[in-house]
Amino acid sequence: MKSKTKSVSAKFSDSNQFSRRQFLLASAAAPLGLATAVAHTKQANPKIQRIDVFPLRYPTRGYFKFFSGPRGSYGRGAVIVKVTAEGGVVGWGQSVPSPKWSYETLETTVIVLRDYLGPVLIGRNPLDIDGAHKVMDGALGPGFSTGMPIARAGLDIALHDLAGKLMGQSLSQMWNRPQGGPLTLSWTVNARTLDEADAIIDAGHKRGYSNFNIKVAPEAKFDVELAKLVRRREPDAFLWADANGGYDLSTALSVAPKLADAGVDVLEAPLRPNRISGYQQLKKQGALPILMDEGVVSSVELAEFIRLEMIDGVAMKPSRCGGLLPAKRQIKIILEAGLMWLGSGLTDPDISMAATLLLYGAFGLTKPAALNGPQFLAADVLAKPLVIKNDSAEVPSGPGLGVEVDEAKVIELMKKTKNSKKG
Ligand SMILES: [Mg+2]
Repeated sequence: MKSKTKSVSAKFSDSNQFSRRQFLLASAAAPLGLATAVAHTKQANPKIQRIDVFPLRYPTRGYFKFFSGPRGSYGRGAVIVKVTAEGGVVGWGQSVPSPKWSYETLETTVIVLRDYLGPVLIGRNPLDIDGAHKVMDGALGPGFSTGMPIARAGLDIALHDLAGKLMGQSLSQMWNRPQGGPLTLSWTVNARTLDEADAIIDAGHKRGYSNFNIKVAPEAKFDVELAKLVRRREPDAFLWADANGGYDLSTALSVAPKLADAGVDVLEAPLRPNRISGYQQLKKQGALPILMDEGVVSSVELAEFIRLEMIDGVAMKPSRCGGLLPAKRQIKIILEAGLMWLGSGLTDPDISMAATLLLYGAFGLTKPAALNGPQFLAADVLAKPLVIKNDSAEVPSGPGLGVEVDEAKVIELMKKTKNSKKG
């Protein structure tokens, strides 16, 4: 029997090398994980006993600028988090770092979960998710905002799954909200030429998609042509442009009206988030609704940014803001301010995707969600995949996240990760 204290382990070394001994250890735990995933007993609050983290890379299809890693590695990095309570009930979560998107990497996520955020949760009541966030605040100091939010989101999601399973409730039941869904997904156009964009749109159509997100910046001239192309091909689509902070202010001010004329509906992250006066000017210009993404991590700066009249809305993603609990608070703040929220993601693989669908369903998202995991990822770790038909994703039902993680698939994907390359 393992000690109850500080029982946080990475199932494989930081270099992603998976030894035979580690594999056997992890394999031995697999039947337990599967058995407990469906054992949603209503037992009285057991304590968190153990946390395991599984770093891996999901294989991908198609080009996407955020997937390349160090030493030639390629794939959607993720750390799967397994939180086990006394009595053996398990909650699963997933952290989805992307070093080209923010400073969090696969390697730092493992260290933060294993050595900082994980240990402070051992022995706590898994139903106290608010309290868990408070002790995590103390375990890793903030920067401008919450420290290492993408790592933290994995634990938050696992705690939600665990709490739901312990109570025999889905997340929407826990939140006292409707389940909602199905949700319409949009197709991401990350193109380097117009010909490539045409081919990407064709591929989206083939998969049954009719709404598109375009990745723009820094080449404003190309971006306007790209927007025109997508609008010409899809007159009724919701067309959402995301610059990922890639314009400078003068370019953003000049391109926003042109993108609006080309048929773009919203402009997300035109500037780096610390360009506060720039955001104020763009909002004041009023050419397009200005949304923030990267810059909103905690509710504190969200309220500040609204007060400072920097934004018309926010592209939400639970992984960016430390998980479901903070994301839920932020949606409420946005709604109270009468602003717009859209559903976005970080090319979330299955577990993080399930959590995100549950959140957006419960809060009645109506616009197409930029959840492009199904577009770009070529593997999953679930016993039964999420139900996605064409561009329509069902909100999972059942206790917790409503999905069953197959630990053997997790282990298998970890073994393959060492040499994961573009494919
Ligand atoms: Mg974005």
